[in-house]
Amino acid sequence: MVAQSQKSKSELTVGVLALQGAFSSHEAVLNKIGVSSRQVRTPQDLEVVDALVMPGGESTTMSQLLESANLFEPINARIKNRMPVFGTCAGMILLAKTIIDGRDDQLSFNAIDIDVQRNAYGRQIDSFEAEIEIGALTGSFHGVFIRAPRIVSFGSSVTALAYCGDDVVLAQQDKVLVASFHPELANDIRLHELFLEGV
Ligand code: GLN
Repeated sequence: MVAQSQKSKSELTVGVLALQGAFSSHEAVLNKIGVSSRQVRTPQDLEVVDALVMPGGESTTMSQLLESANLFEPINARIKNRMPVFGTCAGMILLAKTIIDGRDDQLSFNAIDIDVQRNAYGRQIDSFEAEIEIGALTGSFHGVFIRAPRIVSFGSSVTALAYCGDDVVLAQQDKVLVASFHPELANDIRLHELFLEGV
């Protein structure tokens, strides 16, 4: 029997959760890499994607929209089935085990063992930029932090892939990758490529 081969990059369809937030910049990066992307707004959209990017935006709003679009449960089931997923900023909050300073009714997928605090970098510096060293990449990556969440603790199954100061800002657990910054705004395809290596 011929072993089932992995899909090649050109055969992949990467979904971008498109309920709210910075989804179109993620699509632009994916298209630059040469993979087809698909905006995910319905359970039907989700069915045809091989992986999913959850963008930055407003996690409380996204949580509500995930419920009203009947997307929370199907996405949850796909994640539990090891669909690769990349959450950035608000997307990271949606994937976290615990949300600190969230709304009481805010949902998360509990897909990575991190505790994240929303808007944790304080008012004066709610947005800032920093060069980040990512072990798997050569040369630094420009990190754009916009009212960013902070990973305040993480479990032993989580790998810290990059730090900014003392904070982990890029982390991975199995097929789940999260960044507290906005890699889609850096004019740099390398982090999306890194994610796609795991797809
Ligand atoms: N502060 C936002 C939230 O809590 C996240 C900000 C962002 O995604 N840029 O959802």
